[in-house]
Amino acid sequence: MTFTHHAEGLLTAEHSKQNIPIPFDLPAGLDYLALTAVFETREEMLTEIAVSLYDPNGSRGGAHRHFFCHEAEISAAAATPGFIAGTLPAGRWSLEIDTHLILPDVTVRYTVDIRAESRPDVQPRPPFVIPQPKPTEGRGPGWYRGDLHGHTFHTDGEWDVSGLLAHARAVRMDFITLSDHNTISPLAEMDSLSAPDLLTMGGMELTTFRGHALALGVREWVDWRERPGWGMPEIAAEVAALGGTFIIAHPLSPGDPVCSGCTWLYEDMMPGSARVVEIWNGTYWNFYSQDGLELWYKWLNEGYRMVATSGMDIHRPLAPDIESPLDVVYADTLSEAAILQAVRAGRLYISVGPTLDWTGTNAEGQTARVGEMLTGIAPTLCLRWSGCHPTDTLRWIVDGEPLELWMGETGEEVRHPHEFRWSVVEVRAADGALRAITNPIFRPGEWR
Ligand SMILES: [Zn+2]
Ligand SMILES: [Zn+2]
Repeated sequence: MTFTHHAEGLLTAEHSKQNIPIPFDLPAGLDYLALTAVFETREEMLTEIAVSLYDPNGSRGGAHRHFFCHEAEISAAAATPGFIAGTLPAGRWSLEIDTHLILPDVTVRYTVDIRAESRPDVQPRPPFVIPQPKPTEGRGPGWYRGDLHGHTFHTDGEWDVSGLLAHARAVRMDFITLSDHNTISPLAEMDSLSAPDLLTMGGMELTTFRGHALALGVREWVDWRERPGWGMPEIAAEVAALGGTFIIAHPLSPGDPVCSGCTWLYEDMMPGSARVVEIWNGTYWNFYSQDGLELWYKWLNEGYRMVATSGMDIHRPLAPDIESPLDVVYADTLSEAAILQAVRAGRLYISVGPTLDWTGTNAEGQTARVGEMLTGIAPTLCLRWSGCHPTDTLRWIVDGEPLELWMGETGEEVRHPHEFRWSVVEVRAADGALRAITNPIFRPGEWR
């Protein structure tokens, strides 16, 4: 038996930023499906369209790629990267056209063809099972270096999972995270490759039309499609309910048409329930966003106890001489749960190389690390550092204001601030580029 379905039509700017369903009713007894979606336009440079596939039970992945012809095959045994293998249940399916960007005066002609067959020679296997994170051997409490944001060819990356892991090993990461766009299809493979020398972590990048957010530590697909009653606050709550960690990604990166949907435009999530924000994204100029950094400082001054992270957002091999930021996390052990718990608590700093130890002590001798609340009277702050360049500048920031500058490759400095709300340390290169930044040490007060 063979099933076919064909759809075609025109898309214009009025269809931009929509999920356009193309439903079809799949009969029972089929075990192989092939789809082709072709988008023809003269303005390919500034048009971005992806496709997603849903079976009667939920997401079957998709093709979030900057291509204009998507072809995919799915059977019980295998699937094109981005899609999820498994049996093909009978009932209402939908291929959705996700129009991330169609500019005014642009016309796109789409053609969608679905073909499904019964292929008795295909060896069936159980339906897709949600993979569980594989336990990794812990190494006890300590500082771990790694990354919280990356991609593969399951979406728009240019390497497979093994390529991403080889890069992580080459730069001696302790943990590496895969967060492909709107699909969980690579996570089973990612989990299976966790090893004592490299913890693999996963989730997805919720790649919406009005901003991107990381849902880390989840293995379930999270519905990123905004609609009445399902806005970003509900999506963030769903991530939390699944035990995940929600991170606003590159909030002030360029948006349409340079990077469609990349600027965070959710007025009700500024920061709303979010408490983690990626201020340093490896993709962008100078490897960090000064605007994103200042947005974080603004939120801290408004009383939000926000944590800052970095993400390489790596899609392909990097030239070896490029310095890229890593998250250096103080975790109870090297496991996905412990790393993400430490991230939510702010126990991390971001660095392209310098090592920073930033602690506070009160008159009773109690101490606080980055991300922690330093209580008591007579606060003392101590920074020990190493690995800086001779021309680097250390900048002590108190409540958003740079107070002092000092320099040196290694050293130790103690400060006795009269009082403060929050304080961080930045390391800047001679040209002003950020090379490292801590999370704050907080003082008690009205924190939200
Ligand atoms: Zn993004
Ligand atoms: Zn990304």
